[in-house]
Parts: sequence; C-alpha cells; structure tokens
Amino acid sequence: MTPTKIILTGDRPTGRLHVGHYVGSLRNRVELQNSGEYEKIFIMIADAQALTDNAENPEKVRQNIVEVAMDYLAVGIDPEKSNILIQSQLPELTELTFYYMNLVTVSRLQRNPTVKSEIQMRNFEASIPVGFFCYPISQASDITAFKATTVPVGEDQEPMLEQTREIVRKFNSVYGDTLVEPEILLPSSTACLRLPGTDGKAKMSKSLGNCIYLSETEEDIKKKVMSMFTDPDHLKVSDPGKIEGNTVFTYLDAFCRDEFFPEYCPDYKNLDEMKEHYKRGGLGDVKVKKFLLNVMLETINPIRNKRREFEKDIPYVYEVLKKGTEKARETAAKTLSEVKAAMKIDYFEDQALIKEQSEKYKDA
Ligand code: ATP
Ligand code: MG
Repeated sequence: MTPTKIILTGDRPTGRLHVGHYVGSLRNRVELQNSGEYEKIFIMIADAQALTDNAENPEKVRQNIVEVAMDYLAVGIDPEKSNILIQSQLPELTELTFYYMNLVTVSRLQRNPTVKSEIQMRNFEASIPVGFFCYPISQASDITAFKATTVPVGEDQEPMLEQTREIVRKFNSVYGDTLVEPEILLPSSTACLRLPGTDGKAKMSKSLGNCIYLSETEEDIKKKVMSMFTDPDHLKVSDPGKIEGNTVFTYLDAFCRDEFFPEYCPDYKNLDEMKEHYKRGGLGDVKVKKFLLNVMLETINPIRNKRREFEKDIPYVYEVLKKGTEKARETAAKTLSEVKAAMKIDYFEDQALIKEQSEKYKDA
C-alpha cells in the first residue's frame, strides 16, 4: 500500500506575503494542490509562532491573518482542495509541543542555523524568549499533527524539517510507531530557494523591510525595481557586468520565461543571451530593470487583481478560515489521542488500566 500523501505548510502572519514566498513556496503549493496527487493539504497561518517574536504586538499578528489568507486565495489556493487553518485555534498543537520538548536538548536547539541567524536579526542575543527558542519544536508539532509526508517550503526551513525528523524518530523509538517522518520539498531552481531582498541582502523577509509584496501597486513595484541592487562595479553601460550576486538577474532567474522576450525585450531570445551581453558589456542596468519590471508585473498584476475581489468580501475569507480550522482540528485531535495512548497518558480511555490496577490490589 502506498502511504497517503499529505501536505502541511504555512506562513507567519507578520505581514502581507511577498514574491519570495511566491517563488519559494506558494507557486509550488498551487501546483501540488492542482496535481491531485495529495490526499489532504493543510495550509497553516502560524499566528502562535508569530507571537514568539511579536509577543508585545498581538495586534500586528491579528491584522495580518486575513491579509495572508487573501494572499493565499489570490495566488490560487482553493479552499475546496486545501484546508487553510489558524494555528492558535488548535490547542492540540500546543499539547504536542509540550510532550516533544522532552525529546529535544537545549544544545540541539542552539545549533539550529536558521534560529541562530534569526536571533541575530532580531537582536535577541542578550535575552531570547523561551517560546522563540523552542519554535522549531512547535513546528514539529504542526507537521506531525497532520501526519504530513511532504512540506513544500523555502530553504531556510531545512533545519526545521531535520529537527522534526529527529523528533519523529525519537518518539517512534521510545513510544512505538506513531508519527510520520516528513520530507521537505524545495523549489527546483536555485534563485527560488532563498530569494534575496531588493537591497541585495541574503533573504527577502517581512521583518527586514526589503520586500516586493504580492499586493503591491504598480507604482511601488516600479520604484522598488528601479532602485534595486545590481553590480556595484558596473558603472558605465560599456563596462562588463557581473551576474552572480546581482539581484536583478537573480529575480529574472526566478520569474522570467522565454515567452516574455518577444513582447518586452525582442533583442534577445532568452535570459542566457541577455546575461551574455551584460557580461560582455554594452547592456545597461536600466534596460534590464525595465525588462524585469514587466516580468514582475506579468506575475503580480493578476494576483493583485484577484485579491481585490476577496478584499470586497472579508466575511467570506473568515468563513473559509473557520471551516478550514474546524476540519483541521479533527485530524490534529486524532493524532494527539494516538500520541497520548502511545505515551501511556490516556488514563480514561484505557479500560485495561483500571482492570490492571484492580488486579494488583486484588489480594491485598
Ligand atoms: P518573517 O520575517 O516574519 O520570518 P518571512 O518573510 O521569513 O517572515 P515566513 O512566514 O517565515 O516569511 O516564511 C514562510 C514560507 O516562505 C517558508 O516556507 C519560507 O521558507 C518561505 N520564504 C520566506 N522568505 C523566502 C525567500 N526570501 N525566498 C524563498 N522562500 C522564502
Ligand atoms: Mg521567516
């Protein structure tokens, strides 16, 4: 019997979703959703995780739930096929986290490279909130609660998946086979693994303010693209230019398709030809940026327009979230009861227990 294929993935409601999310995860999710290969798909708005580094700003998290949900619907997540849920509304996830904490050491958490760099980014070095430090464990709960086999995410999530797999192995070896080991599903192209910010920084991230949002206006996208980081040594058009580390070309790698050239830049047949010219010298940044702008608008305009429809019907969006959350909770509750039975903390469900204890005192 082939195992049931189940997807779990999600985002933190710390802002609207950006094009890094799109190429790193959202585009993939929609394809997987429409492939029909997955029996169940759970897409989680990770508000409890967002609170681990936004504890003093609950309003931000609250406001962004519906923003993220609308971004999902706008890119083509279909609530008939995918279950959208709000993390905090499933107490089962918190319960699992508490039990998994016993299976992970402090030093193991300290070695997580993504958490390490996030601690630095947030200036948490001096005092890390315990909740933030432990969020990889809570992520393991999210994944295992749904018995997810596949987790389509960006490269920064690799250490979380590894941590999850370790917890699963440890749990199953101590308490017996209960949980499923998930696989990460990364985007196929390098540029999409970790899309840099418009400032050239390693990662486009809501928290760094270097994003192009999926709901951004044409005017703002233009401003951001035209002021984007390129090759600092490419001063004159005739100078040879560098492609590596040149954000404009990284974005083209992530978004450009050959079919865009005849309309927006007929001088070249494809991106390779354009790159060759840039490397040789004679191709100016402005021309490449104008092309990139058109490419980005081809992707973003339809998403922004579709989003507008949902912005007019917010009650519908909350209804989608409510239904998705209720349905997801059924699955998580089932896993939690299996976990508790395996851990022998199912006192009131285990009929044999009362009998066993009674036997013990029978002759007393
Ligand atoms: P925050 O700054 O609050 O952490 P974020 O922008 O990093 O926000 P997340 O909600 O943490 O976004 O990430 C959601 C998903 O999007 C994850 O699967 C992550 O790997 C992916 N992702 C985020 N940023 C990028 C990026 N720049 N390139 C590719 N994938 C990304
Ligand atoms: Mg993040």
